[in-house]
Amino acid sequence: MRRAASLWTSFCREGLSWIYPSKCALCGLIAEGSPCDVCASQMELATPQFISESTESPLAFRACVFAYQGRAAQSVRKLKYSRSTSLSHFMAAQVAIRVRQVAEENCLIVPVPLHRSRLAVRGFNQAELCSAQLSGFDSSALRRIRATRPQAGLTLRERERNLEGAFWSSPSVAGRPIVLTDDVVTSGHTARECARALREAGAVSVGIVAFCGNLV
Ligand SMILES: [Zn+2]
Repeated sequence: MRRAASLWTSFCREGLSWIYPSKCALCGLIAEGSPCDVCASQMELATPQFISESTESPLAFRACVFAYQGRAAQSVRKLKYSRSTSLSHFMAAQVAIRVRQVAEENCLIVPVPLHRSRLAVRGFNQAELCSAQLSGFDSSALRRIRATRPQAGLTLRERERNLEGAFWSSPSVAGRPIVLTDDVVTSGHTARECARALREAGAVSVGIVAFCGNLV
């Protein structure tokens, strides 16, 4: 009986994949994975940047997997605004590889948080999806306690003011090296503000790993 049920399930699955073949969320072509191999090969790798302490930046490094352009930028937009969550497995795998390359083994992974009002509208935090293949990630260590305007379109000064006091860090981060994770880093204002809150709560170091980012 169980064997018959399992055969029926696999028959239905085969039938569905024949009627609705899986497609790459980026180019729309029928493919096994999303993104397909061609779209993935078009993403340009970025070099991790280690930041000197003399710059007074609260960040120790900024390590993006890909440049924020072309297919990588399209992945970010598709995940966030078109809910193409089929891309998140690939994005999380890339973030996990980069974290292992640049971070200490005992680091605590902290996804950049969304304010609860935005989380309620979107239904998911893309930074958390990008952390899904890392063990030891803690999405309660850092909270966005104030709703902020989107950073895009704001001047430098407006971006700084927009994020002032927007984050709260749990004291549980004291004594730990932290790796923030996100889908994209552009100006870095959000990452620096998160890092400032974490350092004030006693984190020994903070770096950020993102799926993609502006080349700096
Ligand atoms: Zn494709």
